[in-house]
Amino acid sequence: MLNKTDVLNLLQTEDEVGLFKKADEIRHAYVGDEVHLRALIEFSNICRNNCLYCGIRKGNEKAIRYRMSEDELVQTAQKAADMGFKTIVMQSGEDMYFNMSRLCRIIERIKKFDVALTLSIGERSLEEYKAFREAGADRYLMRIETTDKKLYAKLHPQQSWDKRHECLLMIKELGYELGSGIMVGLPGQSMESIAGDLIYLKDIGIDMAGIGPFIPHGQTPLKDEKGGTLSLALRTMAVMRILMPDINIPATTAMESLHPRGRLMALKAGANVVMPNVTEGDYRKFYELYPGKPCTDEQPKQCQTCLGIKIQSIGRTIGTGYGGHNGKKPL
Ligand code: SAH
Repeated sequence: MLNKTDVLNLLQTEDEVGLFKKADEIRHAYVGDEVHLRALIEFSNICRNNCLYCGIRKGNEKAIRYRMSEDELVQTAQKAADMGFKTIVMQSGEDMYFNMSRLCRIIERIKKFDVALTLSIGERSLEEYKAFREAGADRYLMRIETTDKKLYAKLHPQQSWDKRHECLLMIKELGYELGSGIMVGLPGQSMESIAGDLIYLKDIGIDMAGIGPFIPHGQTPLKDEKGGTLSLALRTMAVMRILMPDINIPATTAMESLHPRGRLMALKAGANVVMPNVTEGDYRKFYELYPGKPCTDEQPKQCQTCLGIKIQSIGRTIGTGYGGHNGKKPL
């Protein structure tokens, strides 16, 4: 069992190529060569929170806000299912227009398309998490962002670390597959703290780990910060794979923002999941968490074709099943 010092040493290794190779071998041995695709729908960029790093924070008055209608969202999901995606991810800001009954109705409608359904809509009450699960939601994604509580408090003026942690435990307890993760390269974040983050993710028993570089957004208070590097994000992800060999690990979109082959590099350093954006029209431009998001001028079909070709070019295949952790089946 690796302890925090071992994790720190791995993160700081001088043999980056060796680290990536080891993570790639572990990925191959434990989860195989299939790359599972998740269709990501960014259904609202309206948010009650003010996270210092995020482009859709409430305080960004320049953001052009949108919210899909219920039918629009369900139709987008249906098109993704028709294109062959076996998992739909619904992501948004913390937009309370989508209350319990509305979301339950949407979940029930989307679940008719024979897909696994993931929610990524932030902090809610136990009652809501329970209702969403009963309506058919299979998985939940919510990053802890950092386990450095002081840093967390600085970055999230309206939120509490303990509350977010509690939410993750509730979600897990309700039987969702739990995805969490962090950003790396946050201002004031140390390597020790990243090592601690990885141990935390292992301790709470996540099923999926999303790790991305922090990328400064020009309309946020952190606009002049440096941001994380692709190398740091890939290293952190590779160490996560070594620490939790059989979980799902996405090649994150933010990695692609830093390098045109960022996600392919991630797939060769421990990742086994990609989340193509299936949001249509201008919405994907407006869902600007950070600048340089790839493919904002593309449409869903183009993304699917392009990613499929890229994935096959590195000798991997596209997963045909639901791609749950340890073959877990959707509700
Ligand atoms: N409201 C949901 C979804 C958040 S957006 C929730 O609270 O979970 C999804 C993720 O984007 C965040 O968890 C954060 O890790 C990442 N993100 C936001 N702003 C970013 C930035 N400037 N650079 C990199 N990643 C960012």
